[in-house]
Amino acid sequence: MATRPESNLEELQHKVRELKEKLNAVVVAHNYQRPEVQDVADFVGDSLELARRCADMEAETVVFCGVRFMAETAAILNPSSTVLLSHPTAGCPLADMISITDLAEWKAKYPEATVVAYINTTAAIKADSHICCTSANGVRVVESVPAGEILFIPDQHLGHYVSTKTKKRMILYPGFCVTHTRLNEEQVKLAKQHHPEAEVLVHPECRAEVIALADAALSTSQMIRHAKESSAKSFLIGTEEGILHPLRKANPGKTFHLIANSLICPDMKKTGLETVIKTMELKQTTVTVPEEIRAKARQAIDRMLATA
Ligand code: SF4
Repeated sequence: MATRPESNLEELQHKVRELKEKLNAVVVAHNYQRPEVQDVADFVGDSLELARRCADMEAETVVFCGVRFMAETAAILNPSSTVLLSHPTAGCPLADMISITDLAEWKAKYPEATVVAYINTTAAIKADSHICCTSANGVRVVESVPAGEILFIPDQHLGHYVSTKTKKRMILYPGFCVTHTRLNEEQVKLAKQHHPEAEVLVHPECRAEVIALADAALSTSQMIRHAKESSAKSFLIGTEEGILHPLRKANPGKTFHLIANSLICPDMKKTGLETVIKTMELKQTTVTVPEEIRAKARQAIDRMLATA
């Protein structure tokens, strides 16, 4: 990935700040966004933190630097704001792995099961689910559901990780994150050989055998908190490389190494300062959710937020 001269970045960041004022806009960015995008955002966080922020916002316009399902979540939680997605085709392959028809078939197969949907799903899938969860609260959400049988969609690895922490019977839909599943045992072992002193933190979207080699499986914001509190000075990180920026910012005296260079989400990287500027200047790409779907999806998200 080509690096841009500092001065050019500053000019572009200045332009974004001017546009924010002009549009009375709030810019939010996921922890996986490029560092220069995170640095112009009003809030940076993981899906759970951003969902909470969006629910409380009063901005005329929310510019969501992330992928489509995240902007949809903002539109579900804040219907009075105009929600703009920072790149028109930034999607999430994991979210696209389950369709309404797929979900209907799985529900018919397991009629007793309660559907728990990872936040990485489309608005329509959320609307057809009982409750949402994120990688930060999956165990708590599953435990909060009265039913003994859970149909967990769409990420099999997060679902498997949660299943190791609960006695509930979990039926796992076979979706996966293309970025996190690239990480394998050999890469973790090799990184541990190079940095034997480092604490190993991975995301629960990783394969079970990768999680088994780690010291902890944490959401991105949990990683930032954990690194601050840990006595370790060096860390091996098994999640999308954008997280290195907030980790280093929050922990100036500590060292962070990405376990493998392949931990890059191409959709998250579609957004750059130029696309943010274009989004704001042209007031594109507006993300809306039909009211009937929005109201039902909101219930599933509100149930999740109530478990906190
Ligand atoms: Fe989707 Fe994985 Fe990219 Fe996250 S990192 S947006 S789950 S593809």
